[in-house]
Amino acid sequence: MSSIEELARANVRALTPYQSARRLGGQGDVWLNANEYPQAPEFQLTLQTLNRYPECQPTQVINRYADYAGVQPEQVLVSRGADEGIELLIRAFCEPGKDAILFCPPTYGMYAVSAETFGVERRTAASKTDWQLDLDSIRAQLDGAKIIYLCSPNNPTGNLLAPDDLRQVLAMAQGKALVVIDEAYIEFRLQASTANWLNEFPHLVILRTLSKAFSLAGLRCGFTLANPDVIQLLLKVIAPYPLSTPVADIAAQALSREGIAKMKANVADITANRLWLHDALKNLPCVEAIFPSVSNYLLVRFTASATVFKTLWDQGIILRDQNKQPGLAGCLRITIGNRNECERVVAALQSLPGINA
Ligand SMILES: *Cc1c(COP(=O)(O)O)cnc(C)c1O
Repeated sequence: MSSIEELARANVRALTPYQSARRLGGQGDVWLNANEYPQAPEFQLTLQTLNRYPECQPTQVINRYADYAGVQPEQVLVSRGADEGIELLIRAFCEPGKDAILFCPPTYGMYAVSAETFGVERRTAASKTDWQLDLDSIRAQLDGAKIIYLCSPNNPTGNLLAPDDLRQVLAMAQGKALVVIDEAYIEFRLQASTANWLNEFPHLVILRTLSKAFSLAGLRCGFTLANPDVIQLLLKVIAPYPLSTPVADIAAQALSREGIAKMKANVADITANRLWLHDALKNLPCVEAIFPSVSNYLLVRFTASATVFKTLWDQGIILRDQNKQPGLAGCLRITIGNRNECERVVAALQSLPGINA
């Protein structure tokens, strides 16, 4: 070990960083591994005051998001992606070496990575085979847990969590822990949002993002919805200038009336492509199971997922391998691209050597 490495905190030395799609690389022309929107939106910058520091919480962005989400501006925090929201919650609520977070695999990887970075214990309550919550397992592990992260629609399985289960977790956690519902993909089924439960539950927190349905993954802009007590605590630990002026400028435009209409058109378009891809995949011999999805991706179990992954990779079609997640042996996650990209996937799967024979 180099002497510099010895200087680092032990949990940071032991840390495996989040294996983001960008870090995993690949030489592709069909990028279906990061749940991005297939087309770049166009924006013009309108704010030219780059000599000045930006607002910590840009008023127009906060007001427009509150309006869009149907909550009060005091219930909204904007941050550098929803990922920063995940981390701010741990920083504000979890005592390293004492408190724990709880999450329900297979699910999004950043809850674990953020907790590990801060030396906070990670507990898991694996989902049942239908990918719904194991309420008994959650209840049994509540003691000492400060934050429960739930993801609905869940990444990478694509399903919504049953509203009744969410209410049960909120009931069992009241007075003990925050319940964070990650709604990164909620625009694909906006009626399922729990944002209108905020007035009922002081310990409910909802994560949102502009990265998925709003097609702005490169902007790095996300939101935390919660009651003002929670928001005020998060504001104590957030950086003084989390969003640059151009980010706030573009986020405000994305949340204008036209911006929201455009997002809705994106969602309709991606949903139609998802139905098309689901239909085209279901009769292929290499496909064992397609999990029902309310999102911009499909989780598919293949008879020979390593061959599928490698064959498509070599053709420049980059998917996300989910084999290492609990319960997901043989599974790949396919982001829904444009129609041509969906067709490329199907054509490549139809001509897999030896599998479809
Ligand atoms: C993409 C994603 C995020 C992160 O969103 P950013 O705003 O890009 O940081 C959070 N949660 C889930 C479930 C996601 O899939």
